Amino acid sequence: MTSYKELGLVNTKELFKKAFEGKYAIPAYNFNNMEQIQAIIQACVETKSPVILQVSSGARKYANKNILKNMAKGAVEYAKELGYAIPIVLHLDHGDSFDLCKDCIETGFSSVMIDGSHLSYDENVALTRKVVDFAHSQKDYVTVEGELGVLAGVEDDVSSEHSHYTQPGEVIDFVSKTKVDSLAISIGTSHGRAKFKPEQCTRDANGILIPPPLRFDILEEIEKVLKDFPIVLHGSSSVPIEYVHMIEKYGGKLTDSVGIPEDQLRRASKSAVCKINIDSDGRLAMTALIRKVLVEKPDEFDPRKILGPARDELKKLYMHKNQNVLGSAGQA
Ligand SMILES: [Zn+2]
Repeated sequence: MTSYKELGLVNTKELFKKAFEGKYAIPAYNFNNMEQIQAIIQACVETKSPVILQVSSGARKYANKNILKNMAKGAVEYAKELGYAIPIVLHLDHGDSFDLCKDCIETGFSSVMIDGSHLSYDENVALTRKVVDFAHSQKDYVTVEGELGVLAGVEDDVSSEHSHYTQPGEVIDFVSKTKVDSLAISIGTSHGRAKFKPEQCTRDANGILIPPPLRFDILEEIEKVLKDFPIVLHGSSSVPIEYVHMIEKYGGKLTDSVGIPEDQLRRASKSAVCKINIDSDGRLAMTALIRKVLVEKPDEFDPRKILGPARDELKKLYMHKNQNVLGSAGQA
């Protein structure tokens, strides 16, 4: 049994309060290997941004829970060594059972998501409440994120064919019954790098897909009924076309890629949205640079020379998000 405080981590409570008042969003970046966590910490220290390190159940299977825990501990020490101790959260992304959430809490996670959005409303309430009761009764309060509404798309173990927007009429009842600390909602974001089918989009003069806009009207309805409450957006990668082009230039194939435009995320960051999840953009940046090196330097076989440029690109991407999209730069 490890408490997150022993690892030097914080929960989301204070961070969301400040983000809400300051009208910015905390970045939630997924990781499962060393290069990713190095890039995240370098970028967030340099931009003085708080950060949520996210681990999915797929990442736990891939990397091992004890290794991940110690990587998060290492991240805290690394930030200090780089000269600025930013607040760092270790968060379970899309926990699908009480046992998984409990295990993460006991391994040192400071925050968990319980995703009961695929269940009936009443089952979602009951499961979420059970996790909240456990998390909040720890010696060190662990924060819990719930979800209402279903996002479309595929990412790790989470997939759904269709999205169902969050119903503003349900949120007050859900939050008061479950006592969650934050709520993930569905207003048109989507998991993965092909967030919409081409027939849902329009095309610009260059044939590039333009996605349908987010449902800010639903978000505003939710803000009206749920006063001063932190909202979370999943599936908020922008799928930069430069990376898609680079991947395709160097032999990849990513048909019909489309993400959420940054100006929409900028607008969301200024609202009650306090946490924005970005995973696919990091995957694209890494893959683009790895492909580039492998094609341009066919005699290279040192993994450090292959992964190093990918790590540098990731750092650049995260700094850009903190500074120009989420507004979290300078808030640590
Ligand atoms: Zn998600």
